[in-house]
Amino acid sequence: MVAGGAARELEAVLDAAVEPVIACDGDERILHVNAATERLLGWSREQLLDRPVTDLFPPRLHHFHGLSLARYLLSRRKVLGGRPTRVFALRRDGVELMVELTVGSTGEGGRERIALTMRRLHEVIDTLEEPVEHVPGGPTDLPHHEETVDRLYRLLVENAPLGIFHFDRAPIITACNELFAHQLGTSKRNIVGLHLFTLRDERMMACVRESLGGHTCEYEGDYRSLTSGKVIPVRVRFAPCYGDDGEVEGGVGMVEDITDRRHVEAEREAHLAQLDLLFRSAPVGIGFVGTDLRYVRVNETLARINGLPAEAHPGHTPLELFGPQTGAAVEQFLHKVLKTNEPQVQVESTTDGTLGVEGPRRYLSGSIYPVHTPDGRVLGLGVLVEDITERKHAEEERAHLYREAQDAIRVRDDFLSIASHELKTPLTPLSLRLATLERRLERGEHVDPGVLRHARHQLTRLTGLINDLLDASRIEAGRLALHPEVTRFDVLVEHTLTSLEGQRGNHVFDFKPPPDPVSVHGDAYRLEQVVLNLLENALKYSPDGGTIRVRLTVNEDVTVLSVNDPGIGIPEDQQQQLFDRYFRARNASTRSYGGLGLGLYISRDIVERHGGRIWVESESGRGSTFFVALPTLSAARPPLPRAQGDRHLH
Ligand code: ADP
Repeated sequence: MVAGGAARELEAVLDAAVEPVIACDGDERILHVNAATERLLGWSREQLLDRPVTDLFPPRLHHFHGLSLARYLLSRRKVLGGRPTRVFALRRDGVELMVELTVGSTGEGGRERIALTMRRLHEVIDTLEEPVEHVPGGPTDLPHHEETVDRLYRLLVENAPLGIFHFDRAPIITACNELFAHQLGTSKRNIVGLHLFTLRDERMMACVRESLGGHTCEYEGDYRSLTSGKVIPVRVRFAPCYGDDGEVEGGVGMVEDITDRRHVEAEREAHLAQLDLLFRSAPVGIGFVGTDLRYVRVNETLARINGLPAEAHPGHTPLELFGPQTGAAVEQFLHKVLKTNEPQVQVESTTDGTLGVEGPRRYLSGSIYPVHTPDGRVLGLGVLVEDITERKHAEEERAHLYREAQDAIRVRDDFLSIASHELKTPLTPLSLRLATLERRLERGEHVDPGVLRHARHQLTRLTGLINDLLDASRIEAGRLALHPEVTRFDVLVEHTLTSLEGQRGNHVFDFKPPPDPVSVHGDAYRLEQVVLNLLENALKYSPDGGTIRVRLTVNEDVTVLSVNDPGIGIPEDQQQQLFDRYFRARNASTRSYGGLGLGLYISRDIVERHGGRIWVESESGRGSTFFVALPTLSAARPPLPRAQGDRHLH
């Protein structure tokens, strides 16, 4: 030992040192401890003198590989290269403290001296050798405030819902909590001692540097654990740790495993992407309008309906986009919903109506509803617009077809009742007359030719009706054949008039034949059928007699026959349909006039297939004039017969 004044001086110097220093002889018996040792371990200098230094360490640390702790560390001196080793020191009161221990020796044999230097690690919460949990005794056993605080810190750190690790200036991880080890999928033993600059994650290393430079730093990324190879999405907050001297002595990292958050975010992103796709590709126009009535976003369909690109909408009001009429109408609608907070659902409008949009009419169905935040604030308005033009057209078409079908059914029913009535009417008198004839002939009595004439007349009427029915069905089937030949139309008209002499009653026929013969290329039988029908109608629908004017004119290549009567006329709105099958004007009741509504239908077909035209001019109650225009022979093109070999039923 150093003696005298020099020894005292050395003692004083050692006492001034902050770190505990213990000097032993070669047998590891304590020769000297400084004041810092006394403070740290709770022994007085006198108490320790000559005691084995192993008394300052827990028994489990007394032997390593057959050597004492001090000898073991001395044997590893070269390997350690002056670096301290973390061990637990034993205080006098039995509490274990973690220290960094450096062991050195000088001299040999009996002059050998061993020096142990300790450094207290306040922040260190773990050790290479023993987990802190093994520190004996609970908080109640800890008489010293410092130890209680220590334990509380440990509890705090261990129970924190974050992975926590501490690193020194090297920067080597000096300690961590269980959660951090769990996050990395390894053990504390593997983590403590890890050099952070071996991580090779540049951003992570930058954060370590930042914290050692006295700044906080945040890292977020996929951290690949070097020890386990596990990839963990993490967020790490780095902060510097200051020593008692106010210098940065290391740093701390707080690790949040954001795997779950990432999952949630990924799911949310997927949902948003799906919603976005739905929004963009929806066949319904969707838009969102802010409370200032400015569009926030619209989808392609709404943009198409609005006639503007989708990107032209955001930030603009309907008034700015669609002008004073349409824009004002839309804004009024939006405003109403905003004011009343009541949704407007499927309000139908037409573009040419209140919206005043030019172009073909489109039908729109719009819904507007307030969009609230969960706490009830109105964020804006949701707009749904559907172009229902096609649907409307289809509905109209359906309604039209339905009406037509109903009409057709009604016409058919009417026709059936009229036809049965019409066919039956001549049959009753005919059968009566034939019965009378039979009786008279049986009795050998005189037979009145008038009775026979009447019977024949009824038969002719029946035949006419049946012929009309057959002709109508032939026309429908496209089988009404024509047999055109050169025909004197003026003669044909005159002949038809003559044939009606017996039926004309009080009527007068006024016919002035044209000065020159009029020839057409036509089917004489069918043309006579047309003329006869017009003349019979003129007689039938002029019940009080009167003059029936028949004119035949020729104008260039066309000859026009007109038949004028002073009869009941035809209501204007029905003149168009007059030539339709089964059509009978409403002023010609079946009871008063009879008829199947086929004559003009057949006539039109015949005339048109001769390359001609048939029409009427009439005023209800003031008579009618029917016109038939036919190409004269010089202009006539041979009509196309629709079917061959059809002969008429005479
Ligand atoms: P119908 O055998 O019922 O007379 P038509 O086809 O010849 O059949 O005529 C169709 C309908 O046209 C008639 O039911 C009648 O309402 C109207 N009509 C035809 N000719 C005249 C006419 N000269 N005056 C008034 N109405 C007429």
